[in-house]
Amino acid sequence: MALGANLDDPQAQIRCALRTLAALPETRLVRESSLYRNPAVGCRGQPDFVNAVAMVETRLAPRELLEQLLAIERAHGRVRDFPNAPRTLDLDIVLYGELQLHEPGLTVPHPRMLERAFVLVPLAEIAPDAVVPGRGRVADLVRAVDASGLVKLPDAGA
Ligand code: ADP
Ligand code: MG
Repeated sequence: MALGANLDDPQAQIRCALRTLAALPETRLVRESSLYRNPAVGCRGQPDFVNAVAMVETRLAPRELLEQLLAIERAHGRVRDFPNAPRTLDLDIVLYGELQLHEPGLTVPHPRMLERAFVLVPLAEIAPDAVVPGRGRVADLVRAVDASGLVKLPDAGA
């Protein structure tokens, strides 16, 4: 799944969210990417985004997983909720194995993942051989996006 934040300490948001993901019921955090800084294109004055991707093994069904992610988003967002607030935390299901799902409120693979360098680059770091159903391997798909704005952040050693 993909994580994104642009609160003023987005790195801390992401690291905290990763720990929360690791604690989800019936779920194991298998791998996590580096954190990447990503300028908030088209929203001047907003802090940069920080993005990462995590791989989990879970017995939760896609819909149950989404509910958990939305609950984590709400828990993080509640801290500083004001109108037009920058996104405190965005959690998306990018891939769920090779499942394809199109339901109200839940589309998997995530419909915008292929155009998002901030999803594909960290995904390629931890799962180059993952397959996007009908589209091919992540390692191939990542070559099609412009990743020039992304900056890989140093490991906090946490
Ligand atoms: P985005 O993450 O695409 O920038 P939002 O986070 O604002 O957009 O969208 C939130 C809504 O998107 C959620 O309420 C959820 O129902 C819906 N959604 C559809 N597919 C997915 C998915 N694969 N992962 C996460 N949310 C999804
Ligand atoms: Mg989202």
